[in-house]
Amino acid sequence: MSSKATDVQSETQRTQTSPQGVLYVVSSPSGGGKGTLIRRVLEVVPDLSYSVSYTTRAPRNGEVNGREYFFVDRQRFEEMVAAGDFLEWANVHGHLYGTARSQVTREVAAGTDIILEVDVQGAASVKELDGLDSVSIFILPPSLETLKERLLARGTDSQEQLDVRLRKAPEELSQYVSFDYIIFNDQIDRAAAQLAAIVSAERARRARQEPLIRDVIEKFKAN
Ligand code: 5GP
Repeated sequence: MSSKATDVQSETQRTQTSPQGVLYVVSSPSGGGKGTLIRRVLEVVPDLSYSVSYTTRAPRNGEVNGREYFFVDRQRFEEMVAAGDFLEWANVHGHLYGTARSQVTREVAAGTDIILEVDVQGAASVKELDGLDSVSIFILPPSLETLKERLLARGTDSQEQLDVRLRKAPEELSQYVSFDYIIFNDQIDRAAAQLAAIVSAERARRARQEPLIRDVIEKFKAN
């Protein structure tokens, strides 16, 4: 690991005191670069995991079942919806995507923070859920051209899918107002550092450190 990565890691170290993990809900239009950004941050920020969603879309080249997504057919997905297996789910560009309730509940109860990569509908649904501590982050791509370039470079979408994703982008962008943080993703290193910094700052919030603070103060009193 580079010294730079180590610095980020030590700054973001979580004081293992808050009883419940935090959900970091990350959204952007398709091609906004959030996948790369999240991978970078997971490498350097400790005690942070990634929620693997379920989807009915076909795997892209190089995607592994259980790593990027759990790939299921529509019937299985609908059975899971009926069984209440999703914390939230949405139809995005004609495919169904859902966040697994079991993984999130398990990790959050164990005090682990977790990143959810969801579309803007998913982010709105998570905000409505009771009893979860969540922080929302919107990744703003610098331009429509960049978005187009990233989607083309990925080379996995048909022309039709590409058109749908680009057409939906302005509407998705207009949802930025409902998010706690906006990261302008014009430069991946800076954007990744900013995402790690958000996690770090949120971990330093007084409300999340109350048990630790009370413990330290009690020790002062004992002397
Ligand atoms: P992609 O097909 O490019 O991997 O993802 C398409 C869109 O679906 C992205 O905006 C992505 O964030 C979103 N997405 C992925 N997983 C979920 C999920 O579990 N729930 C919701 N609501 N959206 C998701």
